[in-house]
Amino acid sequence: MTKYVTLAHGNGGEENNELISKVFYKAFENEILSKSEDAAVIHNGALAFSTDSFTVSPIFFPGGDIGKLAICGTCNDLAMMGAAPKYLTCSVIIEEGFAIRDLENIVRSMKKELEINGAIVVSGDTKVVPKGAVDKIFINTTGIGEIQQRGISSNNITQDDVILLSRDIGRHGATIFVAREGMDFGSSLQSDCASLYIQVKALMDAGIKITALRDATRGGVAAVLNEWAKQSNICIEVDEETIPVSSEVYGSCEMLGFEPLNLANEGTFVLAIPKEYAQRALEVLHQFENSSNAVAIGKVSDAYIAKVILNSSYGTKRFLDLPTGELLPRIC
Ligand code: MG
Repeated sequence: MTKYVTLAHGNGGEENNELISKVFYKAFENEILSKSEDAAVIHNGALAFSTDSFTVSPIFFPGGDIGKLAICGTCNDLAMMGAAPKYLTCSVIIEEGFAIRDLENIVRSMKKELEINGAIVVSGDTKVVPKGAVDKIFINTTGIGEIQQRGISSNNITQDDVILLSRDIGRHGATIFVAREGMDFGSSLQSDCASLYIQVKALMDAGIKITALRDATRGGVAAVLNEWAKQSNICIEVDEETIPVSSEVYGSCEMLGFEPLNLANEGTFVLAIPKEYAQRALEVLHQFENSSNAVAIGKVSDAYIAKVILNSSYGTKRFLDLPTGELLPRIC
């Protein structure tokens, strides 16, 4: 590993994983942490517990702001364990000179998103630091949720499962990049930032047995699939042409040299669902505007390799690897 932390160490991809495993996991190692789930499963499987810090720049962007993101991010990680988000903490680090009006708008977004999740903030902390010590505002949220369907885990995916995707990919990453660069690809490009518990609840209410769920945040769908391949020790085969990408995202990727599969999402999730439930799961997802274009994108193949294979529309195959390098810092 390099001697100093680089921006690549926060990319949600390979370098990020290396930093986590060689520094944090090495020191904190325990049975719960080593499961590497979106949220820790604690209290004999009854509760999910997760934390996330938000440093997004710009703090207001098409489709959301840092406050909405801070609630969606933590609540979605709880939802990915089949948990109903319940209690959150909210910790803010604010730069001297920050506008109170902006702070009020951010907190209003948080309140609105908490209501969507049925969660409340029960504890918090406020720090103000001198100008330049942070850029505007950083927010940390930590959440506890009550698990509604036990046993959901990224370590249990098998050949009995189908891989589904809830919607078109790359909107959050493309939106932040375009907003930051002051580019204009038309007014329709906006972040997918959204709370996902409502969709997860509908799947559980429909009696669907869920193997695994993961929101495709930093590192995008490519990171989720690679993490799953490694954690469950399986080979995932995905058909590229089934993966929906909007024309705005596709256009910005062409121009900026990004790969949609590596771009961050904040309201998009990947599902591993047993074959017999997959069709019904898609029908449930199609009832929501957020997931009206949910699709099956792949399967677990019988190859003995913990990798992701991407089948292109030209009939060629290649490995889809974990994203590497400085993707896009301060995306969330
Ligand atoms: Mg997550």
